[in-house]
Amino acid sequence: MRPGGGALMMGVTQLSKRVRHELTYLGYPPRAWTVPRSRDGIPVLDVLIVGGGQSGLGTAFGLKLERITNVRIIDRCPRGLEGPWRRFARMREIRTPKEVTGIDFGIPSLTARAWYEAKFGHKAWQRIDRIPQDIWRSYLDWYRDVLDLAVENEVELTSIEPDGDLLLAHLRHSDRIERVHARKIVLATGFDGSGRWRAPPSLVANLPAERYARTADDIDFRRLAGKRVGVLGAGASAFDNAAVALEAGASRVDLCFRRADIPRVNPLIWMNFAGLLGHFAELTDLERWRFMRRILEELPVPPTQDTFWRCRSFENFAWHANCDWKSVRDEAGVAKVETEAGTFSFDFIIFGTGVETNLSMRPELAPIVRDIALWRDRFTPPPGEDSDLLANHPYLGTAFEFTEREPGTAPYLGRLHNFTFGAMASLGLTGAAIPGTKYGVRRLVDGLARDLFLEDSAIYYQDLLGYEVPELESLESAVTWLDRFLSDTINPQKLIDQLDPAVLTKGLHGKRASRQPDDKPATAATTSPQRVRAKRTVAYAWPKSTGERAETNKHTKAKTSRQRAKYGPSE
Ligand SMILES: Cc1cc2nc3c(=O)[nH]c(=O)nc-3n(C[C@H](O)[C@H](O)[C@H](O)COP(=O)(O)OP(=O)(O)OC[C@H]3O[C@@H](n4cnc5c(N)ncnc54)[C@H](O)[C@@H]3O)c2cc1C
Repeated sequence: MRPGGGALMMGVTQLSKRVRHELTYLGYPPRAWTVPRSRDGIPVLDVLIVGGGQSGLGTAFGLKLERITNVRIIDRCPRGLEGPWRRFARMREIRTPKEVTGIDFGIPSLTARAWYEAKFGHKAWQRIDRIPQDIWRSYLDWYRDVLDLAVENEVELTSIEPDGDLLLAHLRHSDRIERVHARKIVLATGFDGSGRWRAPPSLVANLPAERYARTADDIDFRRLAGKRVGVLGAGASAFDNAAVALEAGASRVDLCFRRADIPRVNPLIWMNFAGLLGHFAELTDLERWRFMRRILEELPVPPTQDTFWRCRSFENFAWHANCDWKSVRDEAGVAKVETEAGTFSFDFIIFGTGVETNLSMRPELAPIVRDIALWRDRFTPPPGEDSDLLANHPYLGTAFEFTEREPGTAPYLGRLHNFTFGAMASLGLTGAAIPGTKYGVRRLVDGLARDLFLEDSAIYYQDLLGYEVPELESLESAVTWLDRFLSDTINPQKLIDQLDPAVLTKGLHGKRASRQPDDKPATAATTSPQRVRAKRTVAYAWPKSTGERAETNKHTKAKTSRQRAKYGPSE
């Protein structure tokens, strides 16, 4: 027992050991099972995961648990800077309750809480209400390392196109373009992965680039010291950015929004219950539309109390309701903003106007965007319930796969899975939201495994027909079998290692092991054909890292599925 801790207190190193040990308990069934493919002599990936944030990492781990290991994960950001954390998430703490779980897949020692307690102590955990955002990112760094998830950083997906029965991805490295074929691609590309951060075009048309930024941009807040800053938007990020500008010494911050009041109710918190998180996708289109119209159209995510007070504590902060911006122009280095409530003069503007869901804004989808069905293609809302915002969302299948705008024209879309915030209209709070990962990542991984299996069902059937590994290996007596086995294959020293120590002691004292009434014959008790075979064949090993996998793949690729059948399931 350590001071301040409980009996279970341990450091991060010990926790990592525990995670690795616990994973050995979850090794069933052990066999990597997907059928290798190649295109032009080059191996084809089973899954390419684009995005090394929490969603990409969780998906990669889920696939490992399903023994799908022919996978790559790429991210265009440098290591440790994936996602918004440590970059443009400018709140102190994540807004989600600290107890949230998900990418741990139910393994207690993999949870954020286990890691936090190991690093800072149990009492420290009790003291916090929410997890600081850079700490959340540190947890993700540990998660990636302890699970040996090989993210390839600073590699960007630039485009996707169909190529026969596969997808072809173009990946930009610092020094080259790589073409990769994959059976499946998962877009775990984040909050703006189905669109882009918005700055209303009519408002920025007459502004020089140095006069404004969006909340997701890199903003050098030190340069705002002594400046008048205007923020447009009433949501959480607008307030986060206003707070940082004030703390950096802005002479004044005016936060303006169209609504009559600051939003106070967070619909994402309401959504945190298992029924909805797990089964939203099973609602009818009309039901889904109605839920999401209320959540996405009518209830923007409010600032947290902490952020609001960060702003409120400055006398040079003001917020303006009913203050829609009509136009913005640049006058001698000052942005003049005409609003319903009068004219403002700003030295710098931050647009906290959120993300626009619009697939045509994603360069990687440019070659295929016309094939993809949106809600507007599939669903007509009842009169008075229309929503352009919702209608622009992709209409996804049950495992986040894109669907065809014209049925039958683009079946390859079933290989492309959209695990971004844009999935919300179809599948609820799942992709790109911490509370959604618990159900979302599982749904995605199940769907990927299902599709990979079903696509090759005929091959697995042939595999079964060719399966000839006998469970009953010998019709000889155990003693005869063992004698032959010893002389053929087994190093006697290894066999001694397998013997029961009690039996071995008797043997060493010159007693026949089988003489005691309760004893089985020594050989049969300790070294049946099954036991020897079990030791000889592969004991479960955690799926390998990329480097090791490349080595293994050389062997795997060399075998046809027929050959694998010959070697049997434990190969
Ligand atoms: C400012 C902000 C605050 C948030 N706060 C909370 C919160 O408090 N609680 C909560 O539950 N949720 C919050 N979210 C929502 C959500 O949890 C985060 O967006 C989270 O980061 C989503 O994880 P992800 O892995 O899906 O995406 P991300 O973490 O965004 O990771 C996506 C990754 O994809 C990479 N990528 C994108 N395009 C490409 C490409 N073409 N090629 C290669 N890589 C690419 C990016 O570099 C990025 O690292 C917040 C979101 C934002 C933007």
